[in-house]
Amino acid sequence: MTAELTAQQVLREWLLTVLGEGGGSVPTARALTEMERRYGKLLSEEDQSLTMRGDESKWWNRTRFERKNMERAKLLVPASESRGVWTLTEAGWGEYRKIERAEELEVASPVPSQPVGQESPSRAEVVTQRVIRSTAVADYIKRIHSHICQICGTRLITPIGAYAEAAHIRALGHPHSGPDVAANVLCLCPNHHVLFDFGALIISDTLIVTDQCSGVSLGQLREAPGHEIGREYLAYHRSRHGRVSHAH
Ligand SMILES: [Zn+2]
Repeated sequence: MTAELTAQQVLREWLLTVLGEGGGSVPTARALTEMERRYGKLLSEEDQSLTMRGDESKWWNRTRFERKNMERAKLLVPASESRGVWTLTEAGWGEYRKIERAEELEVASPVPSQPVGQESPSRAEVVTQRVIRSTAVADYIKRIHSHICQICGTRLITPIGAYAEAAHIRALGHPHSGPDVAANVLCLCPNHHVLFDFGALIISDTLIVTDQCSGVSLGQLREAPGHEIGREYLAYHRSRHGRVSHAH
């Protein structure tokens, strides 16, 4: 525990994350509890001490202050227009997406042991498909594949390291309720992640990837030791997206 207060900029990023994960609009009380749930462990003693007035913690007081800064920066809808609910503007969504993207970028590093993951990831109680992801599982899969797309073999190199995306086979959000475990995750490049999520690509139990739009087989999914792919999740994905093959 340090005695330092968490920087305003950090509080802003946390708040943007909570609002973005919450579907863009979160009541004040829920913003408070979500901030505590997600970031409570990162708060210093000084953060958690009370303000001079003694009616709230310093970090929450500073978060509310930051909320006003964000309103002035046009990242949030003015409080006068959305009473009791903190709502992202389009610009606010843009900032949230930048943070989300940055979290997915990370430098390739040695393969860790397989994390346990979560059978039922926590979900924000709002109308959204977004789910709080376990980055431990995503990181594990990306590292074990050295950030190489399991479909096309692409390895994107960015100035801050290799980049790949963790794609859930059976989606986490309602109504799919897939588990956030390694067997339900693929390491894909952004293009193939999108194509897979939309069902343009399906994968057979023998791990043959087929482009349903063109009917072309893209060949065998690349595998890596330590990453067993759950056939039940592939079957679920096919049941959602598989077509009776039409000629195009
Ligand atoms: Zn790819």
